[in-house]
Amino acid sequence: MNTLSQPSFTRLYGHAPEGEWAAPGRVNLIGEHTDYNLGFVLPIALPQTVRAQARRRDDGLLRLHSTKGGSAEVAVADLAPGSVTGWAGYPAAVVWALREAGHDVGGAELSLDSDVPTGAGLSSSAALECAVAIAYNDLYGLGLSAPELALVAQRAENAYVGVPCGIMDQMASMCCRAGAALHLDSRDLTMRQVPVDLAGAGLALLVLDTRVKHDLGDGAYAGLRAGCERAARLLGLPALRELGPADLASALPRLPEELRPLVRHVVTENERVTEAVAHLAAGALAALGPVLTAGHASLRDDYRVSCPETDLAVDTAVAAGAHGARMTGGGFGGSVIALVDAEAAEAVAADVTAAFLAKGFTAPRTLTATPAEGARRIA
Ligand code: ADP
Ligand code: MG
Repeated sequence: MNTLSQPSFTRLYGHAPEGEWAAPGRVNLIGEHTDYNLGFVLPIALPQTVRAQARRRDDGLLRLHSTKGGSAEVAVADLAPGSVTGWAGYPAAVVWALREAGHDVGGAELSLDSDVPTGAGLSSSAALECAVAIAYNDLYGLGLSAPELALVAQRAENAYVGVPCGIMDQMASMCCRAGAALHLDSRDLTMRQVPVDLAGAGLALLVLDTRVKHDLGDGAYAGLRAGCERAARLLGLPALRELGPADLASALPRLPEELRPLVRHVVTENERVTEAVAHLAAGALAALGPVLTAGHASLRDDYRVSCPETDLAVDTAVAAGAHGARMTGGGFGGSVIALVDAEAAEAVAADVTAAFLAKGFTAPRTLTATPAEGARRIA
């Protein structure tokens, strides 16, 4: 199978690929900034994927082409953190991380195509890493499991690309199942597939890409993560995950003022994941709405990672009749999700667009998300 928009692998490399693999982007329903605190998350995979056609090379050369990035070439023996920058750094990072983990992998030819919007908080970076990881797993017969590949991809992003992300994005891309949300415990990677039948409940999940990506996001993310880790140390805990809601009142006064809202967000957010899962398990999908909106308030007021565009999208969607809405992903822009009655989806999206234009913001890009399948071989 050859994806239409993809330049022919044969034209690029002079022969056919050995196969094609796909890995999806994701939206997180609830559980934001909880993964690196070893807490709970609840993402779904998107139908949008990064697709990798690939063929093994035995001369140690990694040759890359992406419809979104162009071409690059590197010898795998030369790979070291930071040695490849720009988009090609992500695939290079995965090959480096596999070798670092002791897997005897060499070169390959890769032709990449994608319909995951980049830089929109929908985790195109994890989709790219996971597409490369799963392709390499098959090309080199590594036999690694989906969670093992997710850990390799996370290490690639942390240690090579230099983004200190938690494990959610890579686990979502590798392990989500169609029709379900992934209830993941980031402490030990135990997971449960929770059925989410939006259409059956007459609902739709709108994704509103605010088109904003603030550069301060990357440094701020690292600072927030460091703040959480400092708070855990001060409380004598391995991670904030160990703090329950009942401990909050006694824990907060033991912390410096600036760390208290961070801790409050993490503890209440873990609770919201539990609450959301209970609603889903009870088939009460619309009851998820207020949990989402409460999560947004916590990100806005306690964690302080929202921005005027995400706040406007959430407020407008809720005023237009959404059951609930929140920003999804790390923050400082990116995308907002809104849980809406299916027949109201267009009207809610139109209201948000009108509100953006009235403020002089760029019109958001709108998708409808259905829980899709995680990374897999497609040809
Ligand atoms: P997000 O993961 O939210 O989309 P990131 O900034 O983490 O945002 O990752 C976006 C980056 O990932 C892009 O700038 C690009 O370097 C890389 N990327 C993602 N998808 C592709 C692709 N299909 N081709 C080339 N590069 C890609
Ligand atoms: Mg990313």
